[in-house]
Amino acid sequence: MSNTEFLSPRKPRQVEGQSLLSMDECRQIAGEFDGTTERIDALLEKWSAIKPGVKRHTIIRAAKRGGYQTTKDRKDWTPEEDRFLRENWHRMSADEIAAALGRGFNSVNLRRKRIGIGRYDGEDLTIRDLEEQTRIDHRQWHDFVARGWLRPRQRGRRKGAAPITYVSVNALRSLLKEHPEIYDYRRAPKATIVALELDRLPDPPAWKRVVCRSSSWREQIKPTPTGRTVTHGAAPMEMRLHTFRHRSCEEEGGTPFWALLYASPSCPRCGCQVSRYSEEGLFTDLDPGNDEVIDIQARKLGLTWRDGKLRDANGNVVSDRDILSSLFSAGRRAARSIKAFENLLDAGLSLAQSKPVAPHRLLANILDIELRADQEQALQTFVETGSMTAAHAMSFGKSTLGMMAMTRIAGRHLLMVDTQLLREQWIEKLTTLAPRIAVGRCHKPAKHVLTIYDREGTVRCVIDIFSYQTRARLDGPWVVGCFDEVHRLPAALAHRHAFARTEYRIGLSSTPDLRCDGRGAFVSRMTGALVGDDWTEQMCTGVVKRIPVKVILVEDREHKHEVVGEILRQYGSVVVLCEAIEDGRELELRYGIPFIHSQTKHKLKVLRAARSMVLSRIGDTGISVPHCEVTVDHSGLFGSRIQSLQRLGRLMHSDRARFHCVLMTRVERYERFAGRVEAIRKKGFEVVEEVAARKEASVQRLLSPALQARVSAQENPYLSMLGWLKDSLSRAA
Ligand SMILES: [Zn+2]
Repeated sequence: MSNTEFLSPRKPRQVEGQSLLSMDECRQIAGEFDGTTERIDALLEKWSAIKPGVKRHTIIRAAKRGGYQTTKDRKDWTPEEDRFLRENWHRMSADEIAAALGRGFNSVNLRRKRIGIGRYDGEDLTIRDLEEQTRIDHRQWHDFVARGWLRPRQRGRRKGAAPITYVSVNALRSLLKEHPEIYDYRRAPKATIVALELDRLPDPPAWKRVVCRSSSWREQIKPTPTGRTVTHGAAPMEMRLHTFRHRSCEEEGGTPFWALLYASPSCPRCGCQVSRYSEEGLFTDLDPGNDEVIDIQARKLGLTWRDGKLRDANGNVVSDRDILSSLFSAGRRAARSIKAFENLLDAGLSLAQSKPVAPHRLLANILDIELRADQEQALQTFVETGSMTAAHAMSFGKSTLGMMAMTRIAGRHLLMVDTQLLREQWIEKLTTLAPRIAVGRCHKPAKHVLTIYDREGTVRCVIDIFSYQTRARLDGPWVVGCFDEVHRLPAALAHRHAFARTEYRIGLSSTPDLRCDGRGAFVSRMTGALVGDDWTEQMCTGVVKRIPVKVILVEDREHKHEVVGEILRQYGSVVVLCEAIEDGRELELRYGIPFIHSQTKHKLKVLRAARSMVLSRIGDTGISVPHCEVTVDHSGLFGSRIQSLQRLGRLMHSDRARFHCVLMTRVERYERFAGRVEAIRKKGFEVVEEVAARKEASVQRLLSPALQARVSAQENPYLSMLGWLKDSLSRAA
């Protein structure tokens, strides 16, 4: 294709009519032409058939050339008409003006444009003006109009165009008088106050009545975050069914309540954001107080709030304790109720009541054990106050205190334990020490029931053993509530057990106040004041051993495994405590020592039979291994100080303790988990730090870190015992 086509000169524009129609033909057209649409259509049809290319305007021009003259006389606009147009354009529609002046719509519309009358003008405000002045969105203003709160003047327009809305300053002021909640006019910018004459409005009231009509409480399947509440990056989501025990506010017909005038209120019943506008237009200056909100919340529990007291359906006053136990029943979301619980404890609620044990209730000792002087003293504190948290060091004999408290007082007692292993250990201890004991199991709720008999063979007491994880509602009443490892009690699910009805309470834990979430402070309000948390005296008298602590710095996880191997070769009885199940399995396979974790059957039996062993988190607290020489803190739960100290405690129960060692990489020691070492030092233990040298001969040194991570004894236990690894074998091949 050549370019010449584009360069060719433009065709001269055809002068229409001239070339298309002759003068004669134009005269013919002029003779029939009368200016009406119908006639033009007819002519167009006729002439386009004769001369293709004839258009409407060809016909009109041809008629003019042929000598057609219009008979219509043009009416000029008088100054009076212009004035009428100016005055009324913003009040009347264009059609009304046209009718009044005896002119057509187009004539009127053209004239107002010619003399410069704008679309929006006049004294009244348009929605656009209001939006600019108040910064309230135009859709809101249209909403006020639709609700009938704002009465504007609307000017109709042709062809279905939205009418133009004019708001008079008076209409705006009456809106703000009736609904002062929509705009904080006392704090409006000065220019707005002047433009809208807002200073003439009365002072706004303080409170408004709003209604929650949320329907969010309905059964639905929606994406829900799963797993931990705090995550790095996006939380994993899952489609889950949400169900509610209560009807939504919408189904209840709305929940009305008082809110501050300019607040964006949230519903005290369902927590949803509620419209800022008062449907009923009710306002007050008098503080409505909290009674209504409390009543709304009480009704969710089937109660009412009248005269400052909570009442049940029959109008009887309900005690705070009953409310609390229903508030914290297992049906509620644990994470939410622990928050409310914290608030209550902060507000001064205490669950540990101080009530001395009456002398006649303290019976003779039936256990085959003598208390030391300091233990006797601790027991006396319990007898005097009826509630205490024993925070003595591990190996002080806290569980002995618990057993004494339970067996010297007759009745039904509650014992809360942390793990299955600890429950087995409690049963083991009581079986050895008591004259006779019967162990029963009960399902629904899952518990163990111990019946303890005295030397004459009569029942001394019954102990119900529950785990902190139970979802059962612990109502009681019980005589003594014994909370083992009580630092577990302020946990999300477990805290509700603090409401169990017990006459006396004793909490046992050497680390009651070290929780990372700071809830340790609540322990003393749940089970009584801390006793024995200063270990210095217990260490000086030699009751508690000053165990040397070694922090061994290693290079990586594989190095940790190697160091464990060396310690196992040197000492006869070693307890390794690790976090990940994977690590435990690895050590079990590599060194042939049992790994005891939550899935292990007959845990206590396996534990008692072994010389050395690996324990998962279940061995962190409470377990005693009397023949243990060295304990190894292999890997832990982040910077948990409780875990760190508790693991050291495993060795304190031993008669042959040599040292406790903590294996840490440099990153763990200095950057991430320094708190673990600090917790030990703070309690008065001497900490030595050393760097473990890597054995040159290690096969692991030959492998890249990526391969080290992949190759494990789990893949081939026999080869790994020989120091061979799958990948090095295949590379050698
Ligand atoms: Zn609601």
